[in-house]
Amino acid sequence: MNSTKTIGIIGGGQLGQMMAISAIYMGHKVITLDPAADCPASRVSEVIVAPYSDVEALRQLAEHCDVLTYEFENVDADALDAVAKEGQLPQGTDLLRISQNRIFEKDFLANKAGVTVAPYKVVTSSLDLEHLDLSKKHVLKTATGGYDGHGQVVIRSEADLEDANKLANSAECVLEEFVSFDLEISVIVSGNGKDVTVFPVQENIHRNNILSKTIVPARISDKLSVKAQAMAVKIAEQLNLSGTLCVEMFVAGDEILVNEIAPRPHNSGHYSIEACDFSQFDTHILGVLGKPLPAIKLHAPAVMLNVLGQHMEQAQAYIAEKPSAHLHLYGKIEAKHNRKMGHVTVFSDEPDSVEF
Ligand code: AMP
Repeated sequence: MNSTKTIGIIGGGQLGQMMAISAIYMGHKVITLDPAADCPASRVSEVIVAPYSDVEALRQLAEHCDVLTYEFENVDADALDAVAKEGQLPQGTDLLRISQNRIFEKDFLANKAGVTVAPYKVVTSSLDLEHLDLSKKHVLKTATGGYDGHGQVVIRSEADLEDANKLANSAECVLEEFVSFDLEISVIVSGNGKDVTVFPVQENIHRNNILSKTIVPARISDKLSVKAQAMAVKIAEQLNLSGTLCVEMFVAGDEILVNEIAPRPHNSGHYSIEACDFSQFDTHILGVLGKPLPAIKLHAPAVMLNVLGQHMEQAQAYIAEKPSAHLHLYGKIEAKHNRKMGHVTVFSDEPDSVEF
């Protein structure tokens, strides 16, 4: 029996690269589609060099692969509908459409999955911001295309209304109540279309809206951890999830609110490569292939630090001092400011002391 498959990954960045490495360990072959011939995944896979929206290139990828997956959610869902044969895209395109649009995403989370989200309303123009209760803080987010805090305006007072009105008149938006959270967490969950498996709860610390540090397990009560994992499982089950999904949440007192979902392995799950017996990339590959999924064990408390362009020297110095830390570099050539160049995972139960 030949159980070797050819897996097509749309997007050859670090997530595509780490998915490919897991797939290769399991004996599969990988072809990625990326506009850059020297993308991170090019080190470990064949690359079809073309824009993500190039339907002819997607067709070529589909023709050469048994299964298709993607490393990011802004893939053209219509183009994938057109090329993916029956069952060739186990994640489907519904999940993509949900996670591409905050209006669909909130509706799915609140009304279909039945999990708690921050109170919100859809905003189609600045008229919807008239009579806004300015005694509460809000955040206005574009429905599509925003990431890492881009396309967002926090409304604290009247002074922020000019920017908010501009954003509201430029694109469909979602207006959320600002959550005074104690901490941000995320949960990785993977499915194979039937069953799901869930990872430990991760605590995330952002700097300038970019993930800086992930601490596992998150410093919350067992009760809250169980609740967060149950919410992630509920979402996964509602989606008949195939592959890996990350659920980002806020913890506010005893409440957990879901902020957003990412239908793919996530930066906050990178620690799982060393700290768990199966990584989020392993379970992604197993999941999209419809294989049985293992229960996940955390070997020991761990901390992940992102290595951005400006941290390259500090990261090298850190590793020289601390050879037990695991350095990952994605093979990107230019170390631009704020560009994710790699990450470091360290086993530690003193997370505050883990810094470059
Ligand atoms: P997002 O693009 O939705 O992931 O938001 C980026 C970051 O903005 C989050 O990680 C939070 O730190 C912050 N944020 C987003 N939405 C809210 C909210 N409703 N209340 C408080 N902070 C928020």
